[in-house]
Amino acid sequence: MKSISLFLVVFSLISCKPKVKSEKMNTKIVIAHRGASGYLPEHTMEAKAMAYAMNVNFIEQDLVLSKDDVPIVIHDIYLDDVTDVATKFANRKRNDNRYYVIDFTYDELQTLKVTERFNPKTGEQFYPNRFPKGKGNFKLHSFAEEIELIQGLNKSTGKNIGIYPEIKEPKFHQKEGKNLTEIVLKTLYDYGYKTKKDNCILQCFDTKELERIRKDLKSELFLVQLIEFEEEAKNLQHFATYADGIGPWYKQILDKKVDGEWKFTTLVSDAHQFNLKVHPYTLRADQLDDFTIFEEMMETFLIAANVDGVFTDFPDLVVNFLKEK
Ligand code: CA
Repeated sequence: MKSISLFLVVFSLISCKPKVKSEKMNTKIVIAHRGASGYLPEHTMEAKAMAYAMNVNFIEQDLVLSKDDVPIVIHDIYLDDVTDVATKFANRKRNDNRYYVIDFTYDELQTLKVTERFNPKTGEQFYPNRFPKGKGNFKLHSFAEEIELIQGLNKSTGKNIGIYPEIKEPKFHQKEGKNLTEIVLKTLYDYGYKTKKDNCILQCFDTKELERIRKDLKSELFLVQLIEFEEEAKNLQHFATYADGIGPWYKQILDKKVDGEWKFTTLVSDAHQFNLKVHPYTLRADQLDDFTIFEEMMETFLIAANVDGVFTDFPDLVVNFLKEK
């Protein structure tokens, strides 16, 4: 009798195990980094719609203000490495020879043609095997326009895909006399993103600004502290006083390879101890660095290092990888 019940206990433990594991896998999120940017020019509506169709969990928006205070979805405060601004508005560059989003109105920005990322000095395409530079007819758009695309698709498909906006360079905006954060928070609020339940994750590299968003501006959104420099990772305990997660560069998670196996820094386990989710950036199938194939890169971070989600330019590959696991 005793051995039978022991057998049952052991059996139920064994049979429970895979279920627990698969539930844990399902909680890992795929963030479309600048949309499906491995396939279409980054931050275009087309790249966002494609990412949506790939069944990601979140689609990312980088946000910079226009001259007339419209939050524009674009990765940099500059225009000249993803648009034809230098030919259309040749005399509007600043002394550093760069063209700034903040110097153009929304209507002016609408006249620009967006293209695959390139080096403005040489004209050379940044990722040579991606969408051909100069081809197609892509435009810039506002944050509100992209939210309407995603919310519209959520309605027409019955899915619930989230947004993952980033406040870009708040100090630069302040120096220019603008308050990007307040405008972004109001846009989010107007579109129904108010609390952690509302399928929005707000991210920022600036630690002071993200702390201000929680403590002074009293935002109840899910906040992720992006980490650029390794030494910042020592401040996890402080980050946990205002943030819900961290977004480190993936190399901050890797320690070294021993006998063909990756050893990790304590960043992920330390963050988990402080109840912080970990979403490293950026997994790219055409920029493998320390890895031989993309599967190895996904396996290393999502399984071995046990992160909670990843930013990727190739969301279909990560969605499929997690589905098969
Ligand atoms: Ca970003």
